[in-house]
Amino acid sequence: MNKIKIYSTMSRKVSELTPMEEGKIKFFVCGPTVYDFPHLGHAKTYTQFDFIVKYLRWRGFEVNYLVNITDIDDKIIQRAKDRNIGWRELADEFEKIYKDDMAALHNTAVTKYARATDYIENIVSQVQRMLDKGLAYCTPDNSIYFEIAKFGGYGKLSGRTELRKDDGVSRIDNSDQKRGWNDFCLWKASKEGEPSWDTPLGKGRPGWHIEDTAITETEFGPQYDIHGGAIDLIFPHHEAEITQMESVSGKEPLVRYWMHTGFLNIGSEKMSKSLGNFKTIRDILKAYDYRVLRYLFIGNHYRAAIDFSEAALEQAKNSLARIDEFIFNKVDVNFDDAADEAAVEEAKAKFHEALANDLNTPQAFAVLFEFIRAQNMKEKSGRRTFEFLSQINSFMDFMKFDQEKSDAFIEALIAERNAARAAKDFAKSDEIRDRLLAMGVKIYDSKEGTKYRM
Ligand SMILES: [Zn+2]
Repeated sequence: MNKIKIYSTMSRKVSELTPMEEGKIKFFVCGPTVYDFPHLGHAKTYTQFDFIVKYLRWRGFEVNYLVNITDIDDKIIQRAKDRNIGWRELADEFEKIYKDDMAALHNTAVTKYARATDYIENIVSQVQRMLDKGLAYCTPDNSIYFEIAKFGGYGKLSGRTELRKDDGVSRIDNSDQKRGWNDFCLWKASKEGEPSWDTPLGKGRPGWHIEDTAITETEFGPQYDIHGGAIDLIFPHHEAEITQMESVSGKEPLVRYWMHTGFLNIGSEKMSKSLGNFKTIRDILKAYDYRVLRYLFIGNHYRAAIDFSEAALEQAKNSLARIDEFIFNKVDVNFDDAADEAAVEEAKAKFHEALANDLNTPQAFAVLFEFIRAQNMKEKSGRRTFEFLSQINSFMDFMKFDQEKSDAFIEALIAERNAARAAKDFAKSDEIRDRLLAMGVKIYDSKEGTKYRM
C-alpha cells in the first residue's frame, strides 16, 4: 500500500509521514472551551480528525490521540456569572454535553481528554522556566507575559507576527502594561471574585496558549508528531505554542506536522435563514442522521472550506442513499464473486492511493462512485465488494449495513451457513459467520439449532 503523505502548514508541502518513533504517532488536537453547546464548526473539525486518526490506525499506526478541554477561561467565568452558578459546575456541564455530542457523531477515536486545570503544576513550571530564561516578564498588575521580541522564531508557522482586522480583538490579550503590543499572556493575575490558583507565580490562572504546551509536554514530551486544529487557530494560538515550548525546551521543531482543517461557512443570507435553527450539533442531529454529517465532512477534503447549506446536506444524504442502496440491493454473499475480484482490487488500489495522498477523500469518493456505477450494471456483487465497503466503513463510519438486520435475512444467512457446514465447506461457513459478525450479529450453535443475538 502507498506510503502516507500529509501536508504540513509549516513546510507548506506534502511529504511522507515519518513519526519520531516508528509505527507510533503522538497526535494532539486543540479541543473545545466548554461554556456553550458545540456548534457545526466543532462537528466538522472533530469529525475530520476522528476520521484521520481512525485511518492512521487502520494503516497500522499506534496513535495516541490527545485532545484538551479548556475548562478555565474568561468566557466560562462570564457565563457562570450570568447563570449564577460556579465556573466548575458550568464547565462540567458543557464538557459532558460536548462528549455526548461527539458520541452522537460517532467521534470515538480520542485516547485521552486532558483538562487544562489538571495541569496547573506544569503550567506554572513552564511559565517559571520562561521567567528564568528572561523571556517572560511580570506586569505591575501581577500578570505574566511572553516578550515576543525575545524569540526569533515568532511567525514561522503563520508567516506573520501581527494581528489582522479579521483576527478579532479578543484573540490578543489587551493590556496597557505590556512591553510589546502583541506580547501574549501566560499567567493572568486574578481579579476579585474570580477563580484562581495560589502558586509561586502568585494568585492567578493560566493564559490561553499555555495549557496546550503544558499538557503536551506532560503527556508527550517537548516534541511530538502531529498538532491539529481548525485553520483559524494558526495565529496567534499555534504560533504562541511554538514560541512557548521551543523557547522552554530549546528543542525544535515542537511538532513534525501541523494539520489544519478548513472553515465551515454558513455564509449567505438564504442559508442563515433556512438554517437559523441548526447552529448546534444537537439541533442538526434532530433533522439529519449522524451518517449524513459524517459523509459531508469526510467526503470534503479536510483542508478545504465547506459551504454548509441545506442543499449540501441533501446532496450528502442522496450520495449516502446511493451507497446504502448499493449495499442493500447488490451485495450478496451467496454470489460467486470471482468475476468482480479484479474490479474490487482495482478500485481498492485507487481508493487507497487517493487516501494516502494527504487524505484526498474527494478523489477516493470519485473512485468509489465509479466502482458502484460499474457494479450496478451487474445483477449482483459478491463478498469481496462487501469486504471492501466494510473496510472503508471501519475508518469512515457512515455506511449502513444494518438494513439487512431483518430476521428473515439473518435466518437465511444462518441456514446457508449450516448448509455449508453440513457440506464441510468450512471456508464458506466461516465467511458467512464473519459477515454476520460485521453486521453485529453473533451466532451460537446449540443442540436446538443455531441461535443469534444482535
Ligand atoms: Zn489549543
